[in-house]
Amino acid sequence: MTLEYVQANTDGVLHDAAVATVSPLNRGFLYGDGIYEVWRTYSGVIFAWEEHWERLLHSAAALGIEIPWNADVILKEIQRTVQAYRDHAAGKGELYIRLQISRGEGEIGLDSELADRCRFVILVKQLPALNERNLEVGARLSIAQRIRRNPIQCLDPAWKTGNYLNNIVGLREAKERRFDDVVFLNLRGELTEASTSNLAFIKSGKWITPPTAAGILHGITRAHVIAGLAERADLAVEERMIRPEELADFDEAMLLSTTKDVQPVGCIDDVDFQTGPGTATRILKEAFVSMARDYATAHPQFQV
Ligand code: PMP
Repeated sequence: MTLEYVQANTDGVLHDAAVATVSPLNRGFLYGDGIYEVWRTYSGVIFAWEEHWERLLHSAAALGIEIPWNADVILKEIQRTVQAYRDHAAGKGELYIRLQISRGEGEIGLDSELADRCRFVILVKQLPALNERNLEVGARLSIAQRIRRNPIQCLDPAWKTGNYLNNIVGLREAKERRFDDVVFLNLRGELTEASTSNLAFIKSGKWITPPTAAGILHGITRAHVIAGLAERADLAVEERMIRPEELADFDEAMLLSTTKDVQPVGCIDDVDFQTGPGTATRILKEAFVSMARDYATAHPQFQV
């Protein structure tokens, strides 16, 4: 299998991501003891730089990880990594930029005091494109039956950690049933989110999404819709608990994430949703892209 070229930067050393650099004693590798963020570019500018950095600090504080680098240092490392990517891959399109920070390495054992110092890995590659089917027909989702979203009293979904096992197991379940992605319920049986995206619905001019109290990642794409995009697309925002029995009442459904921005959902199990031209989801997606391009013009400092 030939892998697409991914440019890596491990603690300041640039290399092909296919080449190993992280120690087998790295706690991110052993226990998922780390945090991460994913940015993407619009018009070659990193979108929502500050919001992702803030969330990274929040995740770090939750796990008691002290990040030794400030945002400027990491931004410069990202710019070096992108330069190396372009030198190697000559790609011209928009980029996917991932920053992974681990607590470090040390003797085997869960005690976080065994960790020496934080390590970072930056990964840069082409932004994965949404295919035509995903845009026209929408993603096909299935509610996980065997597994639920971690409750906020456990590994809080608001922490963007390097441990995605719960989501991986749920996604496997949906894939076994030949769906594209999974929808997790919380322990109370309310909808939360998909494996790597937030979830929202449209009903009679309303944009309805589970609240953070449902147990979700506080998605930055979702936050932008709430902060003003919904209004620009003539939609009223409603954050409220949603139960699976209500799905049949909704007109449209969508996924929200950095890499997809807004992606239509065609069905959740046997409930179908409207997709295609003229839908509120499509209008919201266009509004999002236009806002992200305005952000790019206003933030030349985040050009990569
Ligand atoms: N939920 C989960 C579980 C995710 O992994 C992601 C993507 N990081 C999201 C939601 C979407 O968040 P964002 O809009 O900040 O990318």
